[in-house]
Amino acid sequence: MPVRVVGNVCIDTTFRVDRFPQPGETLNARGHADGVGGKGANQAVAAARTGADVRFFAAVGTDLAAAFIREQLKGEFDLRHLSEKPLPSDRSTIVVNRDGENLIISGIDCAADFDPLRETGLLTVLAHGDILVMQGNLRSTVTDACLRAAKAAGATTILNPSPLSGEAVDLAAVDIVIVNQGEAFEITGDPDPERAARDLVRRGAKAAIVTLGAAGCLLLEDGAVDQIPAVKVVVVDTSGAGDVFCGCLAGYLTKGWTLAQSARAAVAAAALAVGRPGTLEACPSRAELTKIMN
Ligand code: ADP
Repeated sequence: MPVRVVGNVCIDTTFRVDRFPQPGETLNARGHADGVGGKGANQAVAAARTGADVRFFAAVGTDLAAAFIREQLKGEFDLRHLSEKPLPSDRSTIVVNRDGENLIISGIDCAADFDPLRETGLLTVLAHGDILVMQGNLRSTVTDACLRAAKAAGATTILNPSPLSGEAVDLAAVDIVIVNQGEAFEITGDPDPERAARDLVRRGAKAAIVTLGAAGCLLLEDGAVDQIPAVKVVVVDTSGAGDVFCGCLAGYLTKGWTLAQSARAAVAAAALAVGRPGTLEACPSRAELTKIMN
């Protein structure tokens, strides 16, 4: 039961500053670093590190940034489905101040223009029993088309529609929708996670998970609610916790675990990530994610 993650990948350049610059001001950073990011890549890495068979479908440019992305991701999963475009690879500049607040600017030429059904072998790869995982970074029409193609092929579909585009989220071809509490509110208008989850199911999803940060997550499946508490940790950096949760959930499902068992394990995996700095760098290792399964 393989996992197919379709989404985006980018280079994240993070600058640490004492304070944000004023318009027109040049400020020297206290440090900076490049890393690979993008919700699609983050979730694919997390899924692969559970030991699942993962293929990742995303678009990169033909520039040096694309070579960096390939170099960083090789060894995580098969890279043959990266589509190459005559565009700059996607890139985010992240500025973090001393209070841990951030400013992010994303250049998303590759993701904005990416059509996995036309540009990659997704349709030939998708098979009965596969798990397709998607996020909110691609055009919503493209996301819907991939989800429908996956359902037609007999796959299970997982949608984490983050970042929300402002358009209505189509859940007709979604088996499991995963959102954080803020997104659940934004989509349904309901601040109560259980009522929001019921609304998401009414909108078409077979099951809904609302992640609740330090309070774990709420799973709604077959009309029944399961409140899964978080694992208590000293929080260092919560960025990317949701991606570790989504990727690991998909990965654990491939082991034949129930959705509730997989969500419990994903909560444990996400707790490891929030105890460390960074996004992809904070993703637990294969050894750690395998240990959760035992
Ligand atoms: P997102 O990262 O998408 O905003 P959440 O903040 O809800 O989503 O976090 C996703 C998951 O990460 C949660 O369901 C929980 O399991 C875990 N998590 C997040 N914050 C904490 C925390 N402070 N302590 C323990 N686990 C956490």
